[in-house]
Amino acid sequence: HKYVYFFGAGKAEGAADMKNLLGGKGANIAEMTNIGIPVPSGFTITTEVCTYFYDHGRTYPAELKAQVAEALAKVEAVMGAKFGDPTNPLLVSVRSGARVSMPGMMDTVLNVGLNDETVKGVIAKTGNERFAYDAYRRFVNMYSDVVLGVKAAHEKEEDPFEVILEKKKHARGVKLDTELSAQDLKELVAEFKAMVNERLGKPFPEAPMDQLWGGISAVFESWNIPRAKSYRQIHGFPEDWGTAVNVQSMVFGNMGDDSATGVAFTRDPSTGENYFYGEYLTNAQGEDVVAGIRTPQPINRTKGAPEGMRTLDEEMPELYKQLAGIRETLEKHYRDMQDIEFTIQQGRLWMLQTRNGKRTPAAAVKIAVDMVGEGLIDKQTAIKRVEPEQINHLLHPMLDPKAKRVKIAAGLPASPGAAVGQVVFSASDAEAWAADGKKIILVRVETSPDDIRGMNVAEGILTSRGGMTSHAAVVARGMGTPCVAGCSEIAVDYANEQFTAGGVVVKQGDWISLDGSKGEVYQGQVAKVEPKLTGDFAAFMDWADEIRTLGVRTNADTPHDASVARNFGAEGIGLCRTEHMFFEGERIKAVREMILSDDIETRQKALAKLLPMQREDFVGIFRAMDGLPVTIRTLDPPLHEFLPHVDNDKDIDGLAADMGLSAAQIKAKVESLAEMNPMLGTRGCRLGLSFPEITEMQARAIFEAACQVAKEGVKVIPEVMIPLVGHVNELKLQKAIVLRVAEEVMAAAGVKVDYLVGTMIELPRAALTADQIAQEAQFFSFGTNDLTQTTFGLSRDDTGKMLAEYVASGILPKDPFVSIDEEGVGQLVRIGVEKGRSVNAKLKVGICGEHGGDPASVDFCHRVGMNYVSCSPYRVPIARLAAAQAAL
Ligand code: ADP
Ligand code: MG
Ligand code: MG
Repeated sequence: HKYVYFFGAGKAEGAADMKNLLGGKGANIAEMTNIGIPVPSGFTITTEVCTYFYDHGRTYPAELKAQVAEALAKVEAVMGAKFGDPTNPLLVSVRSGARVSMPGMMDTVLNVGLNDETVKGVIAKTGNERFAYDAYRRFVNMYSDVVLGVKAAHEKEEDPFEVILEKKKHARGVKLDTELSAQDLKELVAEFKAMVNERLGKPFPEAPMDQLWGGISAVFESWNIPRAKSYRQIHGFPEDWGTAVNVQSMVFGNMGDDSATGVAFTRDPSTGENYFYGEYLTNAQGEDVVAGIRTPQPINRTKGAPEGMRTLDEEMPELYKQLAGIRETLEKHYRDMQDIEFTIQQGRLWMLQTRNGKRTPAAAVKIAVDMVGEGLIDKQTAIKRVEPEQINHLLHPMLDPKAKRVKIAAGLPASPGAAVGQVVFSASDAEAWAADGKKIILVRVETSPDDIRGMNVAEGILTSRGGMTSHAAVVARGMGTPCVAGCSEIAVDYANEQFTAGGVVVKQGDWISLDGSKGEVYQGQVAKVEPKLTGDFAAFMDWADEIRTLGVRTNADTPHDASVARNFGAEGIGLCRTEHMFFEGERIKAVREMILSDDIETRQKALAKLLPMQREDFVGIFRAMDGLPVTIRTLDPPLHEFLPHVDNDKDIDGLAADMGLSAAQIKAKVESLAEMNPMLGTRGCRLGLSFPEITEMQARAIFEAACQVAKEGVKVIPEVMIPLVGHVNELKLQKAIVLRVAEEVMAAAGVKVDYLVGTMIELPRAALTADQIAQEAQFFSFGTNDLTQTTFGLSRDDTGKMLAEYVASGILPKDPFVSIDEEGVGQLVRIGVEKGRSVNAKLKVGICGEHGGDPASVDFCHRVGMNYVSCSPYRVPIARLAAAQAAL
């Protein structure tokens, strides 16, 4: 069985489509090798070995040793050096690489193969003693940290290697690592090793082969460290994917001023703009850029560069040209924006990694639209490139440009969007505060992969150190969390839990606001405003509309919600809940009088008060939805939601006075209406059947409003929807009322309005007898919230916590109230659609549960042949995109 794949000298055994086996990094390294891009030679150990490792008590397949030795020999031949050879040593990196990139989650060790003997070989070969010891001390540091676990014990403790390094710099009176001499670095190696020996009680491993296998095991082990597990949980990646290990010849960016290392994006990952964007450091090794040790230089001046700073195209024009050429090649080859790592060793360029770059939601849309324009991809591909959930971020508020603000600092615009929150200084505080329902902004000198959970709950992230490709920036963009990075104008003081910016002191718990698009920090809470759908985003959504066949409506109860949804592209209202209108202001009093009245006259009196109010609501909504259908559901919730609490004397006395009854009479009435299980009690059409006057009043309000606005020239299309029908006879009776009132009102007004009467399918019995019900209904709307509740027999109001535990322990794959349970509830939906259409081929079918805005559920609705989905206004664009993707 083949466990090891070689790459080098222009030929690789792997390819880009072997990500599952070779991991993303390994597969793309192989691909780059094969298309003629300079990549240092090496080999990839497959993810199967990782799976084997965990299945077999952390041991390896028997064949592995020999296959590694064989591949290593090939690398040695290509490189003309030998691993462990004291006169001509080959040094390698040991790099992790899962199927999908998990930035900074897994560990990598550089310069493997160095010891007190081989370092002499490096000196002899390069004639550069300083470089050799610089590589050596980095190796001891990294290897001890990653493989041997020698590191800071907790997040507020200093890194033990950093402590020794700082002491050395202080002793030498220098500021930068680069100012230390060869002798200083040599001493550091010894001091590091002594510290490691003391901490572990055993010496640092000197034998190169031990180092290599130690590194390989560490990468496999790193698949199961907590931060990697957290990352997988957050992103929903399975545990059994495993990681590959890449062993690759080292190239050195730290061999002097003709050497450098950098990371770049083929387009701007923040905005999506089409220019070459990147950062580099001269005389440095790869991890320096990402870790934010020194502030890196931009590779070109397209978007300006800090004063006094040179750029790669100025410092090394020939190499920049070559790199820009590789950018072209990679974009044409992958047809997507790439995130690349490169190293220049003494004037020679090497590529170390490429992958589809993470980008902000705004950049995702812009890049997709631009690439269609450039002929790199077609519209269908563009639509598939953007996750529906991603565009959620484009629909949410930004800082109001007109709002007053006090700017206290500026840094890099690392991840766009507005964040307003209270300051905390550690990831664990972030988690604790967020758990208390607080909105927090995580402020750190820099972030590390251990901070991932805290970052995930933060409204925004602010760091004082690091560039646009620092950990904080990359992770924040991936999460869609606003971030200002490298904000050197603030001084973070962990010990006192505060930071200072200019003269301002901001303490833990103080409010600040961030503008991640500008990279600015403001004191206090700055107001936010709604965004607009324009430009690339509008064009992109138009393509989604061309592609999708499923309609998208909205759930809206007010003219304001209706017009927000219309702006977001809603094609009608799929659910207008009339009961929400009953809770406004003084209306609830009339509603209570209506419910509590013993005789028809009192009830009619109360209803008469409600009629004009309801009519006005519908007038507003009909106007807002001019030309589009509006589905109005008659009264649905259980009675108790409207009733006063018997202990609330103020409410009871007020009602008693209004109704001319005693408080005791009111209380007795309320108690007589109490139900043991209200969700299965007098609700939905059952209410309208007990009190037909209610349905009658609502129908009157709907059709009077419809006639009124029709006279104004507004095109109205009311669809009256009867909820919670379980038996066709329930619908028959309610429908008769609606039809009668509609005809009466239209006759009186002298206007004719087209309308439909239909029902919700939200009880299993309704789905199972949909063929009978469809004889009375002109449309079905699946109320999947109740249908899920009644199918599972799980109260949706009481089981949130239990369901979270079910999902965590794997009893259920996901929360069925969030994403439709296709196997169970979905079957009822399917039966409902099929039976309904069997008697009425033209039956209009939609969904109006929360699921209508969930991309996976939208996909299901498409497959089951619905006409439309309906969701909350802010999810309308998400549903439009999900519907387009479902059609592809
Ligand atoms: P990550 O997935 O965390 O980015 P990488 O395996 O890509 O980890 O490595 C971390 C850093 O080390 C990167 O900057 C990378 O470019 C650099 N690096 C890895 N292997 C080599 C090598 N063989 N020569 C030079 N630099 C390397
Ligand atoms: Mg990398
Ligand atoms: Mg319902």
